[in-house]
Amino acid sequence: MSEQLTTLTSDEVVQITKDTNYGTWRFQKGWNPMHIVDAEGCYITDANGKKYLDFSSQLMCMNLGHKNAAVIDAIKKQAEDLAYAMPGYATTARAELSKLLLEVLPKGLNKFFFTTSGTDANEAAFKIARMYTGKSKVIARYRSYHGSTAGSIAATGDPRRWAMEPRGKGPGIIFGPEVHCYKCPIKHTYPECGIACVDYLEHMIRNESDVAAVLVEPIVGTNGVIVPPAEYMPKLRKVCDETGVLLIADEVMSGWGRAGEWFAMNLWGVTPDILTTAKGITSAYVPLGLCATSEKIGDFFQDHYFAHGHTYEAHPMTLLPAVATIQEMKRLGLVERARELGPFVEAKLQALKAKHKSVGDVRGKGLFWAVDLVKNQATKEPFNTYTDKVSGKPLLVDQIAGKMLSEGVIMQAWVSHFVIAPPLIVEKEEIERGIDMLDKYLSIADEACGG
Ligand code: PLP
Repeated sequence: MSEQLTTLTSDEVVQITKDTNYGTWRFQKGWNPMHIVDAEGCYITDANGKKYLDFSSQLMCMNLGHKNAAVIDAIKKQAEDLAYAMPGYATTARAELSKLLLEVLPKGLNKFFFTTSGTDANEAAFKIARMYTGKSKVIARYRSYHGSTAGSIAATGDPRRWAMEPRGKGPGIIFGPEVHCYKCPIKHTYPECGIACVDYLEHMIRNESDVAAVLVEPIVGTNGVIVPPAEYMPKLRKVCDETGVLLIADEVMSGWGRAGEWFAMNLWGVTPDILTTAKGITSAYVPLGLCATSEKIGDFFQDHYFAHGHTYEAHPMTLLPAVATIQEMKRLGLVERARELGPFVEAKLQALKAKHKSVGDVRGKGLFWAVDLVKNQATKEPFNTYTDKVSGKPLLVDQIAGKMLSEGVIMQAWVSHFVIAPPLIVEKEEIERGIDMLDKYLSIADEACGG
């Protein structure tokens, strides 16, 4: 930052931040935020000049890495040309981005509503689904995160919802089982189960009545990078079609090349009725979200009132950087790169699993992976639970992540697993460095296994 804009010392920056701001999703006591002053490629730099390998792309969002020149230029250009226009106007950035979205989104999604985050992309999806179907209920799954605002937190299965109960599970949200073959919530075994978790969702739809939509993260993100078996999504699509229920795919984290496809739904060739996304759409350089719907939903609103909007809908400052992001992803071949690096990461993680008794499962696609820790590989008992997380109990994964951080590797940890999601520009040597660091500190978990 330029001298004219700040005279603060680094200690003051940290102190003012923690005194005056809320730290998200945490007890406030003990929050000591790192002061970040610079970032480039896969690295961020703190105020002491120490560089860290960003092995989870911050919050699984900086897919292009830091300081991409084309995106920065787009931000500058849009600020100079037209910093704001109200949503009722057409702008060049809006049209250019819409054209590109038609190219990269699953075919058939061709009507767009722009937001400024993932959570409000999902809010838009719920309202659109309810207006279109005239029904009210949305079936979400327990192992999920869909955002922090009223509707999205109500549809979130993980414990970030609990503080909002009993009102949090808003009217019209009901929960079904997730697909998680490593720890099947209905205690079935793949493939003999025939994907019984979808049968259960069908049972819910047929018995609840008034179901507007089923909401899924195609690959569950924060809650464990859970990739469904190949039959899951086609079967769910069929059930939705047969019951007249919309399928909403929340690709806030799984989209934008992360899983080796532009969108994870492409892995199974399934098109949802509504797709929501954010994060990688601008590689997080500016806050943008998207709710994309099918043509038939778009057509419905030709003659029905579209009762939704924001002052910042289609904000030009958010749209041109998205154009630059998509162009850069294409120029650098990042979707293909993520796909090609997937087996390399997988081999490294399988080697970790073979070596460490605390590693219960490794799973993922492209450059999107989880390492799941257990006390015991046979019982699959985790070191910590959701209840531990929200009660503020120290978590083993946080202890390991803290050690890695002190050696210059940032890796996101959640309850009892790590999420590995480096920028898609990552080099093989950097992947090796990040995984080697995890390897080193998994000894802490191995010791905690005892025996
Ligand atoms: N949906 C998923 C799958 C997410 O991972 C997230 C955030 O991590 C959200 C929605 C909410 O996005 P945002 O934090 O931009 O509101």
